[in-house]
Amino acid sequence: MIKLHDKYFKPFISAEEIDQALTRMAIEIANEVGDEIPVFVGILNGSFMVVSDFVKKYPKPCEVTFIKLASYEGVKSTEDIQRLIGLTQDLTGRTVVILEDIIDTGNTLAEVHRIFRNENVKSLKIATLFYKPAAYKKDFKLHYVGIEIPNKFIVGYGLDYDGLGRNLPEIYQIKQTEYMTNLVLFGPPGAGKGTQAEFLKEKYNLVHISTGDVFRYNIKNETALGVLAKSYMDKGELVPDQVTIDMLEAEVEKNTDANGFIFDGFPRTNAQAEALDKLMTSKDSQINAMIALEVDDEILVERLLGRGKTSGRADDADESIIRNRITEYYNKTAVLKDYYSAQNKYHGVDGVGSIEDITVRLSSVIDSL
Ligand code: AMP
Repeated sequence: MIKLHDKYFKPFISAEEIDQALTRMAIEIANEVGDEIPVFVGILNGSFMVVSDFVKKYPKPCEVTFIKLASYEGVKSTEDIQRLIGLTQDLTGRTVVILEDIIDTGNTLAEVHRIFRNENVKSLKIATLFYKPAAYKKDFKLHYVGIEIPNKFIVGYGLDYDGLGRNLPEIYQIKQTEYMTNLVLFGPPGAGKGTQAEFLKEKYNLVHISTGDVFRYNIKNETALGVLAKSYMDKGELVPDQVTIDMLEAEVEKNTDANGFIFDGFPRTNAQAEALDKLMTSKDSQINAMIALEVDDEILVERLLGRGKTSGRADDADESIIRNRITEYYNKTAVLKDYYSAQNKYHGVDGVGSIEDITVRLSSVIDSL
């Protein structure tokens, strides 16, 4: 990942892929142009790398010239195209191929067509290395397209973000800023994760996902997932990883507009932690911190037995099941402390005290992130 000014960008298209696309385009254009000597017209500034690499691959004689237009301000393509340097030679009767680095809205292309309207060229063809079909708003024909890309801002290989990035030999794509704050609330059963998550989600405007709650909802509604999960939960065992991971991913997908998430009761195994990292990366996001509530075992048993009197949860009613859940936590889940410590993301918080005191302790960790 790289940072240019205030924004982050991730690798998107390699130098090798660019090279292959240009080779294909050079062969295709040479075949169509035949024995004529074409004039390649690069649109500055962005196309300087494309033109340079393309003409080296062009297998026959050709001429090269440039015009200079400017359209981008920051990361938005603007309607207002400035003509900074126009045509400097007579192209009457010539076969002209415009070489663009990227076609996105098509506004620059409209200006190019305006420039050539009265030039009496023999033919005007448009070639572009990158093309964003979802952004294109014009109907000028694009004769040669290297690589189609989604409608996200890119830099590198001649393309800049406010002046920076043109020198990169490969293409980087802007990193989205959705899911800004993602917390894993950690701790043994009865540590108070659910209670604290209720306060934190309001305070930080986050979506709270409790895998235990989602399983219980499915059990109550007698879904296939609920029936499967119940057999494990009733004994205080963990539900198999793949089932839990698939369910968690579906919950995240439901909340595309979220500011971020509080994951409560997930991950509980290394496989789940790895799956969560992968999921966050695919969203251009990450887990910012694991905040662990630390509470003594005997206090946990006492709290859970107390909760069992009113919660109706079968796994809170029986002391041996409670102890099994705590054992499962130490056997399978506590190792995650190492997983997040290795990434410098582990924050232990004393989970004994009043609910308000513990919220204050958790908030001070979150505020310091
Ligand atoms: P909780 O409400 O977090 O205490 O979870 C209650 C029960 O749901 C656990 O004892 C497990 O059987 C099951 N469960 C919840 N989250 C997970 C998870 N991440 N992986 C496996 N099982 C889970």
